[in-house]
Amino acid sequence: MSAPNIETIVSLSKRRGFVFPASEIYGGLGSSWDYGSLGVELANNIKNSWWRWLVHERDDIEGLDSSIIQNRQVWKYSGHETTFSDPLVDCRACKGRFRLDKLQDSQCPKHSSVHAGESDECDFTEPKQFNLMFKTTVGAVSADDDENALAYLRPETAQGIFINFKNVLDTSRRKLPFGIAQIGKSFRNEVTPGNFIFRTREFEQMEMEYFCQPEDAPRIHQEFIDNFQEWFQSLGISAENLKLYEQTKEELAHYAERTVDVLYRYFPEREDEDKQWDELMGIANRTNFDLRTHSKKPEIDGKRINSDSTEDLSYFDEATKERFYPYVIEPAAGVNRLLLAILMDAYTEKTNDKGETRVILKLKPELAPIKVAVLPLAKNKPEIVSLAKQIKKDLQPAMRAVYDDTGGIGKLYARQDEIGTPFCVTVDHESLEDNAVTVRDRDTWEQERIKISELKNYLRGRLET
Ligand code: ATP
Repeated sequence: MSAPNIETIVSLSKRRGFVFPASEIYGGLGSSWDYGSLGVELANNIKNSWWRWLVHERDDIEGLDSSIIQNRQVWKYSGHETTFSDPLVDCRACKGRFRLDKLQDSQCPKHSSVHAGESDECDFTEPKQFNLMFKTTVGAVSADDDENALAYLRPETAQGIFINFKNVLDTSRRKLPFGIAQIGKSFRNEVTPGNFIFRTREFEQMEMEYFCQPEDAPRIHQEFIDNFQEWFQSLGISAENLKLYEQTKEELAHYAERTVDVLYRYFPEREDEDKQWDELMGIANRTNFDLRTHSKKPEIDGKRINSDSTEDLSYFDEATKERFYPYVIEPAAGVNRLLLAILMDAYTEKTNDKGETRVILKLKPELAPIKVAVLPLAKNKPEIVSLAKQIKKDLQPAMRAVYDDTGGIGKLYARQDEIGTPFCVTVDHESLEDNAVTVRDRDTWEQERIKISELKNYLRGRLET
């Protein structure tokens, strides 16, 4: 089972401290969200998993953390200043403003029951292009409209990687093929943000640019498409909620030769199966566009295409003595969209002996914000309380552990199930005699008696499976 809709996750997130509406005490700010104590742990675990899998476990990828604000020329030569825009339409009837290609995700402000475009009254203007980059100015003396001080918040992390290609190549002494990975915030002034954390104006990306020989690009592209599907499943996302979408020639970005999107079933409640899916990540063959465009060398018909760059970002192959611009395969995923998919897929309901419905978040232990909760069966018994606190303290350096005595044991179990804690450890009267505790499994609700001296190793072993 997975969540029946995004709304279920919105309310769980708010109730239990995964995600809160941003600026809530001032009425909120359209589509901005703050990550609470559990949300930030989950997001960090996702990012760590990605980083470990790509940067640490392979030996052909380097990490990078580039600036959010770069020289404006970066966005001129990348093409973002002229082409990074979405088609925008206004509705004369409801006065709403929508992204033309995402009407199905837009709510008509006049009719709460219909999506924009579904009512007979909809009366759209001709589409116009709206650039998505957030503008800012740099420096204390700059006026708001000072063209010389104009800068942008990055709309993707990728360009920071391309402009550092030579730095990383020279300092790491890499040879092709190799990749550069980066995780960080990106900003897009989306026309139609919404669907909780699915589309926001500030979000986080996990992007990797893999540089290779042009002739190897199609094969490597396909390998990453396969690898990422496997990785998503290793994070607990079920195969039936994932599918691939091959972008058509018309949909491809100007720099891309082939792009495959990995889609997740974010909208299972929609009757039309085709409309249940939306993009979780994109995996593109960006050709050699980016390295070429940021290079000072003349390129097209001897005409210099970049008169501002001071570097040539081509690659010299020692073996063939040839100089060329490597091709780039880019797997680009959103942290927030992945977090939403993981929460939706982990969401399960189970009925207890009393016929009550309980929510269980069946997160993979690796991703769970809290790995173990230590609970005293009787909080008025000082010996039990102090033993439970001592156990929690002993576990803490090895795994994220919490102590909780703020309710009856049934309630405490339910709370931990709902936030995805894989194990609860209960300290009872007998623990004082037999030096053992009860370990309860989140998914099966089965209980096992374990010696306190063996607890840490036991839990470690179970968390790794
Ligand atoms: P969409 O078509 O949904 O607008 P995109 O194709 O423009 O997305 P990319 O430029 O390929 O997105 O960005 C890579 C990834 O970054 C996306 O697959 C998504 O996971 C994430 N992402 C992009 N825009 C947003 C956003 N506004 N909010 C949250 N995540 C985003």
